[in-house]
Amino acid sequence: MAKSPLSVADWQAFEDGWLAPYAMPSRASRGRRHVEPGHEFRSLYQRDRERIVHCTAFRRMTGKTQVLVASVNDHHRTRLTHTLEVTQIARTVARRLRLNEDLTEAIALAHDLGHAPFGHAGEDALDLCLKDHGGFDHNLFGLRRVDELEERYPQFPGLNLSFEVREAFVQHSGRDDAPECAEFRGAGGPLLEAQVADTVDSLAYDTHDTDDALGLGFITLDDLARVDLWAEATRRVRGHTPGLGGQPLRVAVVRELLAWQVADLLEETTRRLEQFRIRSPEDVRAAREPLVAFSPRVRGLKAGRERFLRERVYRHHRVLRMTANGKRILRALFEEYVRSPELLPEKHLRRWIGASDVIGPPPPDWVTAARNPLGCLESVVGDYLAGMTDRYAQLEYRRLFLPSTEL
Ligand code: MG
Repeated sequence: MAKSPLSVADWQAFEDGWLAPYAMPSRASRGRRHVEPGHEFRSLYQRDRERIVHCTAFRRMTGKTQVLVASVNDHHRTRLTHTLEVTQIARTVARRLRLNEDLTEAIALAHDLGHAPFGHAGEDALDLCLKDHGGFDHNLFGLRRVDELEERYPQFPGLNLSFEVREAFVQHSGRDDAPECAEFRGAGGPLLEAQVADTVDSLAYDTHDTDDALGLGFITLDDLARVDLWAEATRRVRGHTPGLGGQPLRVAVVRELLAWQVADLLEETTRRLEQFRIRSPEDVRAAREPLVAFSPRVRGLKAGRERFLRERVYRHHRVLRMTANGKRILRALFEEYVRSPELLPEKHLRRWIGASDVIGPPPPDWVTAARNPLGCLESVVGDYLAGMTDRYAQLEYRRLFLPSTEL
């Protein structure tokens, strides 16, 4: 048989020749929690990326709120389309800086897997429901999804992703003193690939939240003329493409904003890598400040736009109404399932009573007992609700509380 045109060793040799010295090569990974044989031709981070795309939580992002509940209309962003935009931009940045694109892409694809339905309102509601059981944080829930809750393999729970993809959840969390973060302490700061995904996340959502708010009529182009970042991008568009107005102008300004912020991010990051003499992933981990960053000027302009979004979009009466509805639905479902656990689907009931589906004896670390002990009904209910789409939570609410309503 002819030799395979590309083996993992070939790919590692390609990485050795292509990656910048401060990028994370797949051969230096700390590996997976459960030992697995390597693949013939797919590299470690490539497999992580593909495991994420095929998991249940990834598909459910189709029906999860970014800022606006999925049922408002069908052309604003959902968690899934936001994730795809972040991933695309993060790959562009990673390639330009010669970082590990597969790792960057895996982290970007996974970064919102742990979000509850109804956006941050859902997260706040679950945090309150679970306050006596460790609370709820979407980053740590993302880690639990990929470590324990996804059921794809008979040999181990979760997706068994590499250390570098898993640690990005923890580094992004404000609760890194939680017990499940212990294994990541001492690894140092985030790799450049994780910093890119994180910074691009904010670039993407600021820009597309503005675009979606315009599309829904929450704000107008005149309102945005008072936002310095938008006003400067508009001037740039008028400079190279005069005569645009309305929708064509909106689209052109959004494109200009993305291109401008990406160019600024690349320039400032390159400057910082030189200034701090970053020569290796170890230098990156030891750095005392973020290396992937916008220039001070663009940071200031972005802060102005974020203030505007907070005042005019995130507190818009329609967003507040959706927020209140989402919280009410999740709180009611939580109380009902805790009161009557027999209503839970069988799979979740089994997690509560301690049985599992594992073929053969379960490995000893099947459950991270510190946060989600078997037998803690509230934690199991929280996991069930956090995994739902907005639409499914609404349907469950109707099924339980409005059974006579025609669906
Ligand atoms: Mg995000």
